[in-house]
Amino acid sequence: MNENEMVFYPQDEMNTVLLPVTIGCSYNRCSFCSMYKDNEYAHIPLTDIENHLINGNIYTERIFLTGADPMSIGFEKMKIILEMIRKHIPYCGCVASYASLKNISMYSPKELSELHDLGLRMLYIGFETGRDDILKLMNKGHTAEEAVKQAKKLNEAKLQFNSILMYGIAGEGQCIENARVSAEMLNQFITTRIIMMNLTVFHGTELTQMISRGDFKAAGRTERLLEMKTLIENIVPLKPTIFDTTHPTNIIKIKGTLPQDKEKLISMIKI
Ligand code: SF4
Repeated sequence: MNENEMVFYPQDEMNTVLLPVTIGCSYNRCSFCSMYKDNEYAHIPLTDIENHLINGNIYTERIFLTGADPMSIGFEKMKIILEMIRKHIPYCGCVASYASLKNISMYSPKELSELHDLGLRMLYIGFETGRDDILKLMNKGHTAEEAVKQAKKLNEAKLQFNSILMYGIAGEGQCIENARVSAEMLNQFITTRIIMMNLTVFHGTELTQMISRGDFKAAGRTERLLEMKTLIENIVPLKPTIFDTTHPTNIIKIKGTLPQDKEKLISMIKI
């Protein structure tokens, strides 16, 4: 791994030991994303991963696999890595990772369940929105129907995951509808946490070009806050679910459990 390469990981994993598994993103085509534009996608050799583990602290309790989507390496390699973690870091009770819905589609429920039993306990997945037209506009590479299918598969395998949603992604005039449709998607599966991110326009992305061409107009603050409020109002979770806007990109930072904190969360959004 290049020592100058940026490493991205969720803020929940700030105190977690990081284990590089892939470099870059196997997809790398989302219109709003600049994270891995300069990195060519590659797998870290298994021997390097094992050396990393051999030199690690055996009392480590939590490991986060780094790379945009380490699950892209496939079942056999994932299994080997989790077995190596068991062998060298025996007290580790939770391995977590980013994953894309495309990655998950490569695995059968049985394989996901096997990985769970080997210690893979949390995935962070970018759903972004439940609207197919916006998923297409942002070149996300999946549809809402596929998203629900893969999420249900993870539920079947009892592999927990956090769902990352992006408000503002639908653009001006579209945010409220985006919230309603995204809530409809979320209401169909069990997710541990809904992590909200605010659409940010990064230099050098396709989204910047779309804005210059007039193909996308960013929504203002009020509309984005209304989107968040509408989303909370419309979420009817199958199980208690954490709603979390504490990621640094957010306009406001609120966190609670749905459904019981619904009214409290809504009252915290001052429009
Ligand atoms: S948003 Fe995720 S899947 Fe899309 S290009 Fe960025 S890292 Fe890859």
